[in-house]
Amino acid sequence: MRQEYEGRDLTGTVLRIEKSSIYDGDGLRTVVFMKGCPLRCKWCSTPEGMNEKIETTKDGKITYGSIMTVEEVMEEVRKDIPFYFHSGGGMTVSGGEMLFQPEFVTALVKEACKEGINTAVETSFYSSWRRIEPILSCLNTAFVDLKLMDSSKHREFTGVRNEIILNNIKKAGNIDLPNFKLIIRRPLIPGVNDSEEELESLGQFLEKLPRVHHLQLLPYHRYGTDTYRKLGIDYELKDMQTPSDQHMEWCRSITNKYIKTIV
Ligand code: SF4
Repeated sequence: MRQEYEGRDLTGTVLRIEKSSIYDGDGLRTVVFMKGCPLRCKWCSTPEGMNEKIETTKDGKITYGSIMTVEEVMEEVRKDIPFYFHSGGGMTVSGGEMLFQPEFVTALVKEACKEGINTAVETSFYSSWRRIEPILSCLNTAFVDLKLMDSSKHREFTGVRNEIILNNIKKAGNIDLPNFKLIIRRPLIPGVNDSEEELESLGQFLEKLPRVHHLQLLPYHRYGTDTYRKLGIDYELKDMQTPSDQHMEWCRSITNKYIKTIV
């Protein structure tokens, strides 16, 4: 059936749509990965999502990204509704950085919400509040990465300072939306953002924000290594090791003094 709604014919550059993910929100998720990101995290595991343009690997064998309308994405999402029903899942919009294409993502999330589909986003919050606020009102969950409290280091390792991100987390962390859940994620990069001082600072910042549901610590991994090679991009952190379970638990014990923390 042809669906009519505002924004249905807007186009966006979609990296890929993954089905049945269990890592990107409650239940089974359909994850819509958008292309384009204003950050350049040295540990990024999806380098094929950084560039907003459609791109092809050096050997010409793989193309990353395609232009889709909001309705075309919704057609894919609706196919998975039976799985949402049984698992409590829904649609998650991720990236790259989903706020890089705000009109498209706002229309997509609004439509999914209108159709009764559980909605989540994964974002760095590196954008203006004017673009973030309209999305939050139709969201069940926002997973926001907070990579470093030290702004100079944030710039050194991601390419941008963190003041905009901290301000947006403060606003979302105090927002009055009854069905909205804010979860902060910290990818733990050994020697970069896992010191006692950095984790104390993170815990103390989140402790003051009543809408933060919990903090999740994610161990660094090297999943993107092969894609860097295929795209001909230098991967500076390719020799870094994944933190041990023991170290993850030590990090958790620090932030958990201030905010419920899971690993
Ligand atoms: S914000 Fe995410 S997608 Fe963007 S560069 Fe960092 S890790 Fe990669």
